[in-house]
Amino acid sequence: MTLDLHRAGKFFRRACLLKCPECGTKPLFLSVLRVRRLADYFAPLDGCPRCGYAYERETGYFLLAIWAINYGFGSLLGIGMYFYLEYNYRIPLEVLIPSVVLPVVFFNVFFARHSKAFFLALDHYFDPHQKEEPGNGGGGGNVRTPAGPVEPPAPTKAPEPAEPTLVS
Ligand SMILES: [Zn+2]
Repeated sequence: MTLDLHRAGKFFRRACLLKCPECGTKPLFLSVLRVRRLADYFAPLDGCPRCGYAYERETGYFLLAIWAINYGFGSLLGIGMYFYLEYNYRIPLEVLIPSVVLPVVFFNVFFARHSKAFFLALDHYFDPHQKEEPGNGGGGGNVRTPAGPVEPPAPTKAPEPAEPTLVS
């Protein structure tokens, strides 16, 4: 697979703007002004009203976005801030810990939407939704696999050679 920088950049820009990765016009989340519950802030919409792209493919789809991207960048930020403060200012530990942990917590909350958007863009880049083509039953995603181990066919005996008959 070759890296398509133009396509990757397009998906990255759409993720930065929290837009649909497919068409880039409709938002991934409710507008902050319309959020009434905390869950609405973090949960993406079901899909794109324009192109029909489903944002959450399956239950738990965005777990990796939070565990890897959000916490990953939060940890990098915390580690970077720790080393910067420790070696430049030499502040006491009881001040150093909250001055590293608190910004990371705020970062994680405010970066949560972008984590999901970047994850969606990555997934859309490497594994785009396949359009179902009529007639072939969905293509490669629908390959039938046997339910259990396949037993080898029983050996069949070779047919007995016919007795030569004497012609008198
Ligand atoms: Zn769309």
